[in-house]
Amino acid sequence: MPTLLAALVALFAASSVAANAISRRSDRLALSRAQLRHQASHDTLTGLANRAHFSEQLELKLGLGSANDLRCVMFVDLDRFKAVNDTHGHPIGDKLISLAAARMRSLLPNGLIGRIGGDEFIVLLDNEDARSAEEKAGLLVKGLKTPYDIDGAHISVGASIGVAFARGRCSPDEVTRQADIALYHAKAAGRNTYAMFGVHMDELLRSRRMLEIDLRHAIGSGGQLEVFYQPVFTADGGKLYSLEALARWKHPALGYVRPDQFIPLAEEIGLINEIGALVLEDACMMLAQSPEIHVAINASAFELSTPGYTDQVLSALCKWDVSPARLEIEMTETAAAGESGELEKTITRLREAGVRFAIDDFGTGYSSFSRVQKITVDRIKIDKSFIDEMHRADNRALVIAMIEMARAKGLKITAEGVETSEQLTALQSLGCDDLQGFLLSKPLPRSEVLALMPRCRGGSRQEADTA
Ligand code: C2E
Ligand code: CA
Ligand code: CA
Repeated sequence: MPTLLAALVALFAASSVAANAISRRSDRLALSRAQLRHQASHDTLTGLANRAHFSEQLELKLGLGSANDLRCVMFVDLDRFKAVNDTHGHPIGDKLISLAAARMRSLLPNGLIGRIGGDEFIVLLDNEDARSAEEKAGLLVKGLKTPYDIDGAHISVGASIGVAFARGRCSPDEVTRQADIALYHAKAAGRNTYAMFGVHMDELLRSRRMLEIDLRHAIGSGGQLEVFYQPVFTADGGKLYSLEALARWKHPALGYVRPDQFIPLAEEIGLINEIGALVLEDACMMLAQSPEIHVAINASAFELSTPGYTDQVLSALCKWDVSPARLEIEMTETAAAGESGELEKTITRLREAGVRFAIDDFGTGYSSFSRVQKITVDRIKIDKSFIDEMHRADNRALVIAMIEMARAKGLKITAEGVETSEQLTALQSLGCDDLQGFLLSKPLPRSEVLALMPRCRGGSRQEADTA
């Protein structure tokens, strides 16, 4: 009996040792399975859900929803992240992404957050009404734009957010499509903000698609795109100094469409180079026809960064046999601040050939004066918004500061958007070189500018105005 007891005790002890070992081993296996599952479903840099996992969860939750469930999906896109990568390098860019992800996690502890692209995130919030979602979107915008301290560098980016809602069971594709449209609106509203999806956005999207089709057709078939010219006058003496070439689209049903509507669209759908080429050709023809005048064209950062741009400009000048010094290229301040290698090369090569450069809408870009000072240009064009507000002392002081800075750098100064005689007198006394605005002349079609030309040569501003 005692032997049997001893044997049983030994057996029990042995089996419980074995059971412990087995359970430890299976715990370890379960842990590594969980780790593997986590790795397969999460983004390694940020630890957030990856695209596949997020989609799976979204589908699951929206598919299970009962009629009263209200969920919210947000697309979050960092603004100017590409510039951080270009300027500071990828390791810093990666750190910024993981810090941004950590901020999002702490601001939305109960949300499912996924990283779906380099600087793109998606959020799913359960039981979220419009008010609280809006509040959270606002907090995210604010939280993400607070500067990041990374390896001694102080880096700022912003965030644009599109918000959409899902009530009850619904299709994940439809909710993400709506959040995407809302994001598009947040960006169009100037970035660093959020937009909530509304049905009017669908309507806008439809008309944008129509416009896109029409614009492709207009460029392909010719005849609908025209170039208008706005005269620019010298501040002292009011002589016609130059013409700014401005694209116009004569839509068969809508009439003239303004460039602020179709230029951004053309940039997005990759047609800006065609429009730029058309304006360049027209401008060179104008230069050839009116030998005493200068002409300015506008170029977006995208055009200036296109490798063939320099040759395109130089060959157009050569074809029409006009001196490069009579052509000025206006680029927006944001473009001037881009500092992409190709853009710098374009500016350098064209300036070496004699073409002038101006910074358009000066003062409105996010780049500081010091940054702008590094760029080699010949002129600044003070943005209309400053001229509009010049009756206010602080704005007047800003205009004076811009003029003094430009003078110190030896740059020419144009004030644009001059609409009143008070503005005209003030700008003359402050020492602007040239003035442009509806008070002096609106942009005119080619035939009207040409009709104006002989009388204007050496004539007065008033003569031009009455034409
Ligand atoms: P911008 O270069 O700042 O051009 C000046 C704009 O201000 C023009 O609008 C002009 O009509 C308007 N303007 C001039 N004086 C006054 C004024 O006294 N009062 C008011 N209210 N407005 C005035 P527009 O022609 O609609 O052009 C808008 C923008 O589209 C231009 O702004 C330019 O950035 C862009 N753009 C125009 N043509 C081209 C082009 O061929 N290529 C590119 N890339 N951009 C273009
Ligand atoms: Ca311009
Ligand atoms: Ca401008």
